[in-house]
Amino acid sequence: MKPLHTKVLIVGGGPAGYPCAIRAGQLGLDVTLVDASGLGGTCLNRGCIPSKAYIHAAGQFETMQAHAKAPAMGLTCSSPKLELSGLLEWKDGLVGKLTGGVGQLLKTAGVKVIAGHAVFADAKTCAVTLADGGTQTITAENVVLATGSSEAELPFMPFDERVLSSTGLLELDKLPKTLAVVGAGYIGLELGIAFARLGTKVTFVEALDTILPQFDAEITRPVVRWLKQHKVDLHLSAKAKGVNKKGLVFTDAKGDEQIIAAEKILVAVGRKPNTTQFGLENMAVDMDGTFIKVDDQCRTAMRGVWAIGDVVGEPMLAHKGTRQGEMVAEILAGHRRRFDPVAIAAICFTEPEIIGVGLDPKQAEAAGEEVVIGKFPFAALGKALSMGAGSDGGFVRVTARKSDHVILGIHGVGSHIAELSGEFALALEMGARLEDIAGTIHVHPTLSEGFAESAMTALGQPLHISMPRSQT
Ligand code: FAD
Ligand code: NAD
Repeated sequence: MKPLHTKVLIVGGGPAGYPCAIRAGQLGLDVTLVDASGLGGTCLNRGCIPSKAYIHAAGQFETMQAHAKAPAMGLTCSSPKLELSGLLEWKDGLVGKLTGGVGQLLKTAGVKVIAGHAVFADAKTCAVTLADGGTQTITAENVVLATGSSEAELPFMPFDERVLSSTGLLELDKLPKTLAVVGAGYIGLELGIAFARLGTKVTFVEALDTILPQFDAEITRPVVRWLKQHKVDLHLSAKAKGVNKKGLVFTDAKGDEQIIAAEKILVAVGRKPNTTQFGLENMAVDMDGTFIKVDDQCRTAMRGVWAIGDVVGEPMLAHKGTRQGEMVAEILAGHRRRFDPVAIAAICFTEPEIIGVGLDPKQAEAAGEEVVIGKFPFAALGKALSMGAGSDGGFVRVTARKSDHVILGIHGVGSHIAELSGEFALALEMGARLEDIAGTIHVHPTLSEGFAESAMTALGQPLHISMPRSQT
């Protein structure tokens, strides 16, 4: 096959790589995108979207079951049934639609897409092994590495038919009766809770003494409460040790060995950047631990080689990679750009959902700030109650600097709270003060009123929670 020369070569078609390609194409650059395992990367094929589809379906199923047991809102139904193969098919349909859409967008932007695995001989030359066994050599003026990340494996219990990664769990066509989940982080909790709602008996084993250490105890408490109420066992300060015929072997907080009966075991102990098996060692880039080292424009140590997304470090989130991708495309087109967000919102799609953007009160105080805090419960919000979502312990909490009321962080927990993340992130990016949020007319009835009320609470002026006259 004739060697190909391109101005911009992007390796990896995930949420970092494909937006980079689209933007670069829109800006008139000559762009080639190489991807080994399907446009959309981890996120669209086996991550964000498949997991959210399962979480949604699991919520629907749990609601139907609740109504079958005890009619509520005047609604009843009888014997709802789940066929996991049907859910799998629906999820695969969504994935197909979205990844097909990405292909179309790339085409419209004039991007040349090559399906195959790239291996670099030097920083600007790679050989792509194509599906038909052929090889395409590519040389490029600029290379953008967007190779993403993969599931971390525990060496003493490698992935197989029974010990599953998130990818494996999302491919099952039969619901397991029992599931042990190693790691109560993002993936373990999102998928563990979804499977619990679908009817699997789920048990968590988490090495730390808390779930989701990124969030403080006040924020994670409603999730821990949900687990308790739904008889999902959570072993904290516990370490997985291996698997035997009965199930997962682990040591508990006291150091005693225990076994959890488990038909399947999900290992969700983090993700590792994809930095091997594509000749990275031939590209003279510097590393930052296990990640590729980049500056605030996503430049690596090698001129003309850029890196974006999970492969450059935390937070390993799709929206971070997307923004880095767009930025690099614009820099390549001659624009002045820098990756300098005030904050990147993070959400864990648990039951209820958890969100954090910016500093929590302890982090703000540790940074030398004197703060005011306003917390508003969803139980006092008409929209939350009308969605049957007011009793999960949910709330919005805003943390602001005491002297000038500039908002430093917004955290919350509650059903559907994820949909407020845009306003939270915008408030921080715009340097909003409590008065800006409290003074903006928020639509009634929406959950967003909870954000306005949290700001009003921090100002000592809430409308929908009682406050003694002396404090207002
Ligand atoms: P990836 O999406 O991993 O894409 C990298 C691509 O590069 C892959 O297609 C890979 O095949 C390709 N590639 C690698 N090496 C080569 C090579 N040498 N040649 C050719 N192609 C190559 N994030 C969120 O923000 N929100 C969520 O709700 C969320 N949920 C998640 C749920 C699960 C179960 C998982 C596993 C992850 C989730 N994530 C979520 C994380 C999110 O998926 C990642 O942060 C995101 O996909 C990273 O994007 P990326 O483009 O850097 O890499
Ligand atoms: P994680 O880092 O969120 O959680 C891993 C957990 O496993 C930790 O709590 C850790 O203490 C525990 N652990 C590690 N070794 C253990 C052992 N031997 N025994 C018991 N527990 C052990 O990692 P993850 O859940 O695999 O997710 C990976 C990444 O994917 C996340 O950090 C996030 O960046 C991304 N992700 C994001 C979302 C989202 O944005 N909603 C959803 C899923 C994944």
